[in-house]
Amino acid sequence: NTIDITTPSKKYPVFIGDKVIDQLNVVLENLNPSPKNLLIITDENVGNLYLETVQNVIGDAFTYETIQIHAGDDQKSFENYMACQSFALSKELDRTSVVIALGGGMIGDLAGFVAGTYMRGIRFIQIPTTILAHDSAVGGKTGINHPEGKNMIGVFHQPEAVIYSTDFLTTLPANEIRSGFAEVIKHALIADENLYRSLRASVKSIDDLKGNSLQKALIQGIKIKNEIVTQDEKEKGIRAYLNFGHTLGHAIEGELQYKGITHGEAIALGMLFALSLKEDTEILGQELKMWLRTLGYPSFPKHLSASSLVNRMKKDKKAEKGMIQMVLLNSLGKPSLSPFTSESLERKLSSFIEEAS
Ligand code: NAD
Ligand code: ZN
Repeated sequence: NTIDITTPSKKYPVFIGDKVIDQLNVVLENLNPSPKNLLIITDENVGNLYLETVQNVIGDAFTYETIQIHAGDDQKSFENYMACQSFALSKELDRTSVVIALGGGMIGDLAGFVAGTYMRGIRFIQIPTTILAHDSAVGGKTGINHPEGKNMIGVFHQPEAVIYSTDFLTTLPANEIRSGFAEVIKHALIADENLYRSLRASVKSIDDLKGNSLQKALIQGIKIKNEIVTQDEKEKGIRAYLNFGHTLGHAIEGELQYKGITHGEAIALGMLFALSLKEDTEILGQELKMWLRTLGYPSFPKHLSASSLVNRMKKDKKAEKGMIQMVLLNSLGKPSLSPFTSESLERKLSSFIEEAS
């Protein structure tokens, strides 16, 4: 299976399926100019599981260097960015060199940012290893976190190819399956009523998220993302819909210092809040809440305060003229943007938190 991603700045393939990691060789062979050397960036979990597989596929066709960093979203940091740049310089990567991001969204974002800025930008290849990365590996957003906020520093930089070997997903722990599946649900909610209904009918437990049915859902999610990014690569308009659930989700992650909750689990809570903000989607929100509960998603962390969360939401990149921009749904599959004052949002969030606990 191949999905072609077309953005104004670049066209590239997403290979998706069992064992498609073998495509890496083909992609590397076809690069023009041929790379002087490769830099594989991975984290310790993924490295332990799949680095050897990837290195075997590359074989001795290319020279490669490997840097392995700790796992966890707090590693999407300036320190690691700097470490990767220093390593790249010490290994004499040049402008023909290629970065290979082997891992989930954390590695994809960090490695993409390293590639996007090393010598003003060199090429990179995404090898996503999480369900979540069906989202993060496509679309060209790269970056790192700043203590003041998530994803605050970054560039748009599209990969040469995305090689999504779904056999790599079998080792994901349950909370990471939930994390990634939340973004699949997001894609369905903002753009595809049928996909949402069929997922709700077929996914009764997270054990159902494997094999062909998972692959199909990922392909549909990627296509939805592609359609939006094609129309709005640099987020001047509709790309903002992809932030459904994210304004609050990011604030929750930030308040918890990116620990104890996964990105998708936080986004799931953000989506529930967004659905509660409009009468038309209240029932949809209640149904989603029940479904998420049976799938084992966490409930709202009670100790978080509405006012500190809203303070964080004000710093969101999407905030404008003091108003917080929220993505809401008019109905299933029909998103829209609504501005809120921080006072009104804080009131609504307080009662949402109260009801949730
Ligand atoms: P992650 O990369 O931190 O991976 C989650 C955990 O799973 C890590 O501990 C990792 O080591 C482990 N892991 C990864 N693959 C595995 C595998 N196959 N088997 C076993 N363990 C594995 O997190 P993520 O959820 O993939 O991505 C989240 C990040 O993506 C966040 O930083 C978020 O901001 C970013 N993101 C970016 C975009 C974008 O458009 N660039 C979109 C969505 C999310
Ligand atoms: Zn996300």
